[in-house]
Amino acid sequence: MNAQQYIELEDQHGANIYNPLDVVISHGEGVWVYDIQGNRFLDCLSAYSALNQGHVHPQILDAMCNQASKLTLTSRAFRNDQLPLLYKELSELTGYEMSLPMNSGAEAVETAIKLARKWAYQVKGVPRYQAEIITCQNNFHGRTLSVISFSTEKLYKEDFGPFTPGFVEVPFGDAQVLENAITQNTAAILVEPIQGEAGVIVPPNGYLQRLREISDENNILLIADEIQTGLGRTGKMFACDHENIRPDVLIIGKAFSGGFYPISAVLADRNLLGLFNPGEHGSTFGGNPLGAAIARAALRVIQDENLVQNAAGMGEYFNEQLAEIPSRHVKEVRGKGLLIGVELKTKAGGARRFCEELQAKFILAKETHENVIRFAPPLIIDRETIDWALLRIREVLTME
Ligand SMILES: *Cc1c(COP(=O)(O)O)cnc(C)c1O
Repeated sequence: MNAQQYIELEDQHGANIYNPLDVVISHGEGVWVYDIQGNRFLDCLSAYSALNQGHVHPQILDAMCNQASKLTLTSRAFRNDQLPLLYKELSELTGYEMSLPMNSGAEAVETAIKLARKWAYQVKGVPRYQAEIITCQNNFHGRTLSVISFSTEKLYKEDFGPFTPGFVEVPFGDAQVLENAITQNTAAILVEPIQGEAGVIVPPNGYLQRLREISDENNILLIADEIQTGLGRTGKMFACDHENIRPDVLIIGKAFSGGFYPISAVLADRNLLGLFNPGEHGSTFGGNPLGAAIARAALRVIQDENLVQNAAGMGEYFNEQLAEIPSRHVKEVRGKGLLIGVELKTKAGGARRFCEELQAKFILAKETHENVIRFAPPLIIDRETIDWALLRIREVLTME
């Protein structure tokens, strides 16, 4: 079959919930992917940062194949010999005493919300079913119904109500307004340290520290959604590390499996995760031995290959070089580490046409909202490859 036939087949039988670039990829290796004609492209999206370790990382592949040949699923009705090791390694890596594994990122966010509500009723003493969670405008935390209930993006929620109550929205980046929104019933603040899907929005310096203080002063939980920013992406293991703060609840997903498998987790200390009792939450596949073995290998790769340091160094270089491109279309280059957004002026005619031009030059990047091109290659990228990309990006950003 040729590319056009694949595309037609997909459009005919698949619900049209994405607007993909028309490139039909059949294999990947490291930072590169190959289409069915054998053309090689640089992946500058990394599956929304799920591929921090690069495509088909050999060590993760080994771990996956090895575990798949032994044991894949027990359900949590029985124990297995992988999950305890993942718990231990996650604790050593993050300093949190406990974790709760789920599958998708959105499920982990839902889990964190349930946890915050339970804590509010059982520990804080909020009257039952009155708990409020403060969320930020332009957030992205996933696509399930409760999660879109606190989305502020019309496209994500229109026609999908009725919505789950109990959420209060405030502007992102303004700690004062957030503080004013706190009531006796506030259970938690849920925040992305950098808003990825909103277009790589970096809050002012000190914002996260201020949220930490506000949470402590008001006896509320600080929940950081690091599904996209975590595990090295921004040049620190977690984006919260840039401000040396420790959220009460940390949510991870995406690169947690290096792109091999959906696995996510909610991390917290025993005083919180210990609130869950048998039967109160669960997932058939959550914490299965295949996923656990994959996640263990994926975490090891991040550490063994110093991907956090590489993201910091390469990110700084990429960011600086992008900012120096003399383009009349660019409004701002921003980001941290290898999570970079290039915002175009509105009169540039939208980011999509630039992404299509980049594709023609063998770079895959995706527009984020109307006017932002996100550059988020795998964290294994080297300077030579960035230079290769910059040559092409420069041509595209300086076109008419
Ligand atoms: C991708 C993402 C999610 C949702 O993860 P899924 O695995 O797609 O459900 C949640 N929060 C953030 C910040 C994300 O980037």
